[in-house]
Amino acid sequence: MFPSVEKLIKFFKLETERGYDNRAVVGGLDKILPSWENEARAQNLDPTLIQTVSRYLSEYSQLDPSNRARVISEILAMLPEGQKSAAGNDRATQPLGVKRPPDKPHVESSAFLRQPAAQPPAPEADKKTVKRPPQPPNAFTNAGINAPLTVLPGIGKKQAQTLTSLGLQSLGDLLYYFPRRYDDYSRLTPINRLNYGEECTIIASVQSSSTRPVSGGRYQLTEVIVSDGTGYLRLTWFNQPWVANQLRAGDQIVFSGKVDMYLGRLVMTNPEWEPLDQEQLHTNRIVPVYPLTARVSQRWLRKIMYQTVNFWAPRMPDFLPQSIRQNARLMDLSTALQQIHFPDSHEMLKAARVRLAFDEIFLLQLGVLRQKQNWQSGAARVFATSEEWLQQQIEQLPFTLTNAQKKVLDEVRQDLQSGRPMNRLLQGDVGSGKTIVAALTAAMVTQHGAQAALMAPTSILAEQHYRNLCQLLTSLTTSGNGSLKAEQIRLLVGDTPEAEKSEIRQKLAVGEIKLLIGTHALIEEPVEFNDLQLVIVDEQHRFGVEQRAALRVKGENPHLLVMTATPIPRSLALTLYGDLDLSVMDEMPLGRQPIETHVLHPLERERAYQLIRSEVQKGHQAFIIYPLVEKGDRDEGKAAVEEKARLEKEVFPHFKLGLLHGRMKPEEKEQVMTQFRNREYHILVSTSVVEVGVDIPNATVMLVEGANRFGLAQLHQFRGRVGRGSAKSYCLLIPETEDAVENERLAAMVETNDGFVLAERDLEQRGPGEFLGTRQSGFSELKMARLTDIHLIEKAREQALVLFENDPELKLREHMELNKMMKRFWEGGKGDIS
Ligand code: ADP
Ligand code: MG
Repeated sequence: MFPSVEKLIKFFKLETERGYDNRAVVGGLDKILPSWENEARAQNLDPTLIQTVSRYLSEYSQLDPSNRARVISEILAMLPEGQKSAAGNDRATQPLGVKRPPDKPHVESSAFLRQPAAQPPAPEADKKTVKRPPQPPNAFTNAGINAPLTVLPGIGKKQAQTLTSLGLQSLGDLLYYFPRRYDDYSRLTPINRLNYGEECTIIASVQSSSTRPVSGGRYQLTEVIVSDGTGYLRLTWFNQPWVANQLRAGDQIVFSGKVDMYLGRLVMTNPEWEPLDQEQLHTNRIVPVYPLTARVSQRWLRKIMYQTVNFWAPRMPDFLPQSIRQNARLMDLSTALQQIHFPDSHEMLKAARVRLAFDEIFLLQLGVLRQKQNWQSGAARVFATSEEWLQQQIEQLPFTLTNAQKKVLDEVRQDLQSGRPMNRLLQGDVGSGKTIVAALTAAMVTQHGAQAALMAPTSILAEQHYRNLCQLLTSLTTSGNGSLKAEQIRLLVGDTPEAEKSEIRQKLAVGEIKLLIGTHALIEEPVEFNDLQLVIVDEQHRFGVEQRAALRVKGENPHLLVMTATPIPRSLALTLYGDLDLSVMDEMPLGRQPIETHVLHPLERERAYQLIRSEVQKGHQAFIIYPLVEKGDRDEGKAAVEEKARLEKEVFPHFKLGLLHGRMKPEEKEQVMTQFRNREYHILVSTSVVEVGVDIPNATVMLVEGANRFGLAQLHQFRGRVGRGSAKSYCLLIPETEDAVENERLAAMVETNDGFVLAERDLEQRGPGEFLGTRQSGFSELKMARLTDIHLIEKAREQALVLFENDPELKLREHMELNKMMKRFWEGGKGDIS
């Protein structure tokens, strides 16, 4: 039998099984022509036959399925005697052009054309390439998507167990387990047109195969020579001797891989391969590459995926209403799920990504809207504050508030007297003066005798807030109700002595304490409030969703103010924190000078020390930050403890140095901070514990060692520890190694002082998880969506808003699937997202 004829028959068989979708060969049947023609000529096939096949196939893509079936059967009929039986095609022996009985449609002339050919194309254009299952796609119920993996053929208990190691437990998990990347083997290329370095696919017949030991028997080298009529190619495998047994001379095989060079000749090393007559999964297509663990192989997982996706994706009901899909021009879900795993083309892959990303933002947004509605449906206590009162407080402050601060205070004032719980996100860059807003907000509530809580991410920051708010709130002159007394404000951190904790608990419960300031301890300790009416969360991005919620439920529908220095684009903020009203403080207090930032080579350290000396001599103070506490914490990092000793002895013998790190007891930390604040230390050597919130206006130099270890948002926070007074301040960044000096992140720090710009860069570089705090539920579900894609976010947000307006509870019949999907998306999110 002519191999070229055999090859043709195999393609036709595959194509027939697929219902003539022209995808037996990726890119279309005509793609095989160049190499096929060559091969057929080499085998001395009848030139007219070759010509006819070429002509027919080159038009194949433009035909509809029924005509494709016709073409295939006609070509088959032309093939030399004896060939057709190989394809089980023993009835179609009449040459082309011979009249058939009119009652017999042409297409049935081949035995393998028995299944109903020519399926009508799906009505929607975007469904064009979906291979529809025979049954109507309504078998997929909620139970379906949550079904255990053992329902899949070929997956027993053991395999299911293995897949659990990838976090895959249900069918839905599998469908939504997306490839890490793709290998593009969709370029079917004749051997004589291969180019070095390209990823491509060849279809060739095996000429010879052999295995021999190399490198003194340490390796087994398998060598297979293949040919496709246009040329010969050598393929090699290392230590896979079984390949030689599986690839026998004469076999028609599809090989995919990267074209390599060996001794001046093109070769392929360890290519993927599959027999031509089976559907191609690992070759000849854009091949998905999944994230794996040790016990799962790529080929195996791909096969499981293929089965699952092929069977289940078409049965997935599309939870997005048709109107939304149309408005947003989205691919249907079944196609998207198929294409994200086994894309037909880069365009389809892109469209699939868009659809799946849209879904994520859309579901996130719907949840956020629902949340907002839930909250606002409850009534909240009214705290009326007169404008005069507020004005009076503002006038007593040691500085003039910025317009931004005043505006936010007014918004807060309105919220508190609206009768609805305040849900406000206050966003303001480092140093914009958020604390004073928090303090006055607390006063608006406590002046009426109710309780307030303020939670901060570190004990150092909690302590600082405690000190500031004590000073401020006890000195407020309030007409009517008196200002707070010092004992009505308390600090609670994890290491507060047990006796004090129990005293605080008792006084909170009876309402003697009006303002409680602290860390996570506020929610971790079993504290109960008498009448908690206001919850303030500082540096909210440091907290998980659950933590904020946990504090909130200590009161009954309390007002909520969350503050962050992480500036994100407005549309993004609206999406992620759509349940919160947004206040932006985009103005710095008067008299601030821009902070000068430099990246120094490790060898230029002395220059940094020199600058510190001269600043200290002017009466200012400095921070020196080290990434780790002690050497050996994690190999190479500079150690704050050791470095402090060195600096004291060798570099700054005439200055006083303080030391601060996370392992110190809270009293010790507090003491060091107090001493630094009181200028008893010239220099504070610290780890990242001072990263957020710490406010020492007299400090003018921030030196960060090992700067390459920190993210942009972090570095910006560090820099924000200086420049808080009117004096000129400096931020010096020293990376660990010379080559890190050119670090992109560090360069960005020099370029801009704008937290907004840096946040966007950080978002691009590191993705939302790191940026927004990984534990925001909902965000962890964002696998496809990129938060930098503002356009998509806006589109999804718009559609969610419209839908929510019409059917907030998702009660309509057509929203049933959407409702289920919402539950799935938010499951584990505890239903509370802010
Ligand atoms: P952040 O927004 O980073 O939390 P803070 O509230 O800690 O900023 O304020 C930074 C510094 O600016 C503090 O020392 C604070 O007293 C001071 N400050 C706040 N508002 C003003 C203002 N309107 N004018 C001058 N200084 C201000
Ligand atoms: Mg702050």
